[in-house]
Amino acid sequence: MEPSEKTQHPSTFECELCGLTAPYSYYGQKPPNPYSVALLEKSYVMKDPFTPDKDKFLILGSHCSLCCKHVCVGTDCSLFYSKRFCLPCVKLHLKEFPLEIKQDLEKKTHSKSQSSKKPDSKDSKKS
Ligand SMILES: [Zn+2]
Ligand SMILES: [Zn+2]
Repeated sequence: MEPSEKTQHPSTFECELCGLTAPYSYYGQKPPNPYSVALLEKSYVMKDPFTPDKDKFLILGSHCSLCCKHVCVGTDCSLFYSKRFCLPCVKLHLKEFPLEIKQDLEKKTHSKSQSSKKPDSKDSKKS
């Protein structure tokens, strides 16, 4: 009878930019595990499914500090510069970021438009 069935609904984190979804097990700044240090930001974290070490966590994403969108930590979606910023906000406020962020971003968009430069294409075009 008790509504103790508060079952932790597997909450799902969804990146508003790339649409990535993943169940997260914790949201906050200090994942509940003895080895973790406090995170630099409130983040959505999940237990790392790729390791048997149950104390390992993966950071899925966080909030953009400007527009509050949920964004994943993927470099295509957000960057961390003392706070979390989604890339659209970074682009909007690019002049307020240091040059290195700008260059980094440019590099990124460049390498993307140059399409996949595969690492093993060293000896291509032999024919
Ligand atoms: Zn994303
Ligand atoms: Zn934003």
